[in-house]
Amino acid sequence: MDGSAEHQLLRRLPSVEKLIHATAGAVDLPREMTARLVREEVAALREAALGGVSPPEFEQIATALRDRLAALARSRQQPVINATGVLLHTNLGRAPLSAAVADAVRAAACDYSNLELDMDSGERGRRGAFVENALAVLTGAESATVTNNCAAALVLMLRHLTSGGKAEAIIARGQLIEIGGGFRIPEIMETSGTRLREVGATNRVTLADYEKAIGPETAMILRVHRSNFSMEGFVSEPDTAELAMLARAHWLPLVEDLGSGAVVATESLAPLEHEPTPQERLAAGADLVCFSGDKLFGGPQAGIICGRAELIAGIKRDPLFRALRCDKLILAALEATVMEYLSGSTPALPLCEMLATPLAALEARARAIVQALSDLRLAAAAGQSTARCGGGTMPRSSLPSITVDLRPSGQTADGFARRLRQGSPPVAGYIVDGMLRLDLRTVFPRQDDALTSAIRAAASPLAE
Ligand SMILES: *Cc1c(COP(=O)(O)O)cnc(C)c1O
Repeated sequence: MDGSAEHQLLRRLPSVEKLIHATAGAVDLPREMTARLVREEVAALREAALGGVSPPEFEQIATALRDRLAALARSRQQPVINATGVLLHTNLGRAPLSAAVADAVRAAACDYSNLELDMDSGERGRRGAFVENALAVLTGAESATVTNNCAAALVLMLRHLTSGGKAEAIIARGQLIEIGGGFRIPEIMETSGTRLREVGATNRVTLADYEKAIGPETAMILRVHRSNFSMEGFVSEPDTAELAMLARAHWLPLVEDLGSGAVVATESLAPLEHEPTPQERLAAGADLVCFSGDKLFGGPQAGIICGRAELIAGIKRDPLFRALRCDKLILAALEATVMEYLSGSTPALPLCEMLATPLAALEARARAIVQALSDLRLAAAAGQSTARCGGGTMPRSSLPSITVDLRPSGQTADGFARRLRQGSPPVAGYIVDGMLRLDLRTVFPRQDDALTSAIRAAASPLAE
């Protein structure tokens, strides 16, 4: 194509100013953010024009831009109604916090606090000292500390224990797991400078396998909880107590990454399998354990390390500890969550309440929602389902649950699900056999009215 033809195409490009004017007010975004997207779009059209591609009509460009701006606006952090039946949905922010815990965060956020001030001496105090103390009491540990997340906790424990010249950690092959989101135990170990000494076969490992692997380079024995999958059949491995005895006999620390870290007996809350607790693993002889704050613990994102005081003190001296520490808002949320567990009564945490909600309560809510939708052109019914813990925890446990099942008319289930996700508030459900299912175990009762309105809006696209 010759220069003049390109020139013709370039002349047909709309001006950035006109497009900003045409799209302004379409969505609630700062003008600067709108302008940037518009400039990017015009630059792309210019590039295409230089390649001989004719730009679309102005209105077409403006409409496409409005859609992109709306998508950008929707990507802003906002509350979502979780009707997926997955309690700890990593994409939806894992554990929700209670209003009381959120109040503690608010107080820490809006006022100054004694974060690092000793109120008695007026001197600098220890950040997080109270929550560390409370966590040690809760888990029966000598000492405890907190980091950004459980991945950080694992890195810190590995770094500290392999810093004394010995670099090897012994771990069973069947525990070299991938958690999700690119978190693989072997890679984390290597990143923290630890040499992996794998023992056993995928499905079986014996105490003798561990013992044979112990040598002058051994720094520790690591046990990792297979949080998100299970093995059955011809499987066996030594338990914490057996490994602890072996470790002790060789003056080695035994470290256990529990991942989910329930501190109450999960089987007492709901028909679930038993999730290992830090209390029982420490009592069985583990020297250090770590677990997540926002999985079955039901708190904010954090990594909790509990165990021997001298080891915890060493971890806190690692320069990396400073880089991986929690901020005051997380410490406030974590402290309020731990205090809830220590209150002596059933913890009033959303996760525990969702787990313990009786089926009859869900049924009554489903009936009321279905009733409230009876005038719509939409087949709605209450259904039976199974909810899951999710977040890479308890893969074998499913909780009986109740759904509102919807078959919209005049639109596909996929389209309907998208409209619900794009609504206000957005709703996330799941599709089975062309039917959209909204699981009520993960929907708070206070959200039922908003859920009903969201369904109404999504079911009648033309009525807007
Ligand atoms: C989830 C999990 C982690 C990572 O926890 P984060 O808090 O998400 O960093 C580490 N180890 C195990 C065994 C887990 O299940």
